[in-house]
Amino acid sequence: MSAFVCPVCRYPELAEPPRTDAGPSYEMCPSCGFEFGVTDDDRGISENEWRRRWLAEGARWQSTAPAPPGWDGAVQALG
Ligand SMILES: [Zn+2]
Repeated sequence: MSAFVCPVCRYPELAEPPRTDAGPSYEMCPSCGFEFGVTDDDRGISENEWRRRWLAEGARWQSTAPAPPGWDGAVQALG
């Protein structure tokens, strides 16, 4: 099983590639909450804009599932 990196927040454990030639994954990133194919295509919010907003709002974990131990959204996204 491989994992994929979120292009918005660099969360490294997405289950599917966010976007392929076949289209978006419709997976929601548990870290930043970006939903590939919905946030961008349906709502018209770019990955860069979403990253800016998410960081401005405190880079909080977005899933109802618990965050990984030691997870820090800002550190992950900004290195
Ligand atoms: Zn993300």
